[in-house]
Amino acid sequence: MADFLVLGAGMVGVGAALALQTQGHTVRIIDKRGPGEETSHGNAGVIQSEARAPYAMPRDLFTLIRYGLGRSNDMRLDPWALPGSARALLEYYYKSAPARHAAVTRHYAEIVARATEDHGSLIADAGAETLIRRTGLGEIYVREEDFDARRQSGAKQAAEHGLKLRCLSGAELRVEEPALTNTPSGALIWEDSWSSSDPAALVRIYAALFQARGGTILQSEVRKIIQTATGWRVDRDGGHLSAEHLVVALGPWSPAMLRQLGYRVPMVMKRGYHDHYEMQGQLARPYLLADHGVVVSSMLRGLRITTGAHLTRTNAPRNLAQLTHGSAAAGKLLALGSAVPNSQWHGVRPCLPRMLPMVGKAPRHDKLWFNFGHGHQGFTLGPTTGEILAEIVDGRRDALTKALAP
Ligand SMILES: Cc1cc2nc3c(=O)[nH]c(=O)nc-3n(C[C@H](O)[C@H](O)[C@H](O)COP(=O)(O)OP(=O)(O)OC[C@H]3O[C@@H](n4cnc5c(N)ncnc54)[C@H](O)[C@@H]3O)c2cc1C
Repeated sequence: MADFLVLGAGMVGVGAALALQTQGHTVRIIDKRGPGEETSHGNAGVIQSEARAPYAMPRDLFTLIRYGLGRSNDMRLDPWALPGSARALLEYYYKSAPARHAAVTRHYAEIVARATEDHGSLIADAGAETLIRRTGLGEIYVREEDFDARRQSGAKQAAEHGLKLRCLSGAELRVEEPALTNTPSGALIWEDSWSSSDPAALVRIYAALFQARGGTILQSEVRKIIQTATGWRVDRDGGHLSAEHLVVALGPWSPAMLRQLGYRVPMVMKRGYHDHYEMQGQLARPYLLADHGVVVSSMLRGLRITTGAHLTRTNAPRNLAQLTHGSAAAGKLLALGSAVPNSQWHGVRPCLPRMLPMVGKAPRHDKLWFNFGHGHQGFTLGPTTGEILAEIVDGRRDALTKALAP
């Protein structure tokens, strides 16, 4: 059995650490912050069993122009971000062609299909039941024609992947959700999906399980990773560490860390924002407000409103346009109170243009493992890709491994 150091204590790093530990390896995690305090904190908290296809990039000019002009709330594209992301965006565009997307979807569907089961065993072992709702994910439609169209495409998607789907009229939805103050055209409910009322706390509880099983978590910023005769040296704030094997699970920070070893990993940095509001009552499940591209979810801190993607420069200042628009739309359906102080956040979905995470052995370095690029569904997929990585490390994986390989 080997000695592993996992870089990153998000859902992906913690998921990998737990799986490697279960295989009998000695595992430490290092993170500059506490477990689950970055992207794995800021998300919408949905364990998305229904997300059987990754997000493709629209390929028609009209939609792309709308993104560029800020006319679409689900996605916004700052034209001045284009030069810095050109390689990643061009590859994303290429991979998003229907036939290529369909090929990727086959692998994506396979890993997403097992996500709730993989979370399920950790939830049980960690005693995290109180943070979990097994009540599905909803999509609310205000415009009748959008609801009709989505009912049809949703039914096709459900049949194709064996998913449970209910379609509700606006009146039926209001019976299930007394907190609604207005009646939309209707809603789709994806019954197989789960959600957490505090995504960061779920990662924290998984991390505590890892520690209870003998794992170590170190809090320190990693500056440099250097290959040695026996494995790896990690320079960090306050000294250095040695480890036989390294796992890079740094989410959006992975490409920057790997550049020092000569890897140029193109990543599409899809920024997202959230804020919390006080609200009378609770929602039974999270909802995508489909006409407005935001997800609303009752969390322990209040109603969390989470935006879609904003493609911008890494250090660009916050642009709250999507959040402002989404909050106004939510306010037409729900009795929102005041914003919860100091609860606004933004972070980045670490999206690889190929639309599958990179899970496996680094191409040019021994004892270096990649586990990043989980894009829109890293909260869902962390435990699953952790299991897959542990299987690859122990030489127990077949076809899917090739698709995920770095
Ligand atoms: C707005 C939004 C909504 C989303 N909604 C959902 C959802 O509903 N469902 C879903 O499945 N996914 C969702 N996602 C995606 C999901 O949140 C991410 O894919 C996932 O959190 C990525 O996890 P990670 O562990 O790879 O990265 P992170 O959680 O970001 O973890 C990386 C860790 O690396 C650490 N780190 C970075 N650099 C260093 C360094 N130099 N030294 C030490 N540590 C370092 C960071 O502190 C961090 O803890 C959403 C994302 C966003 C932005």
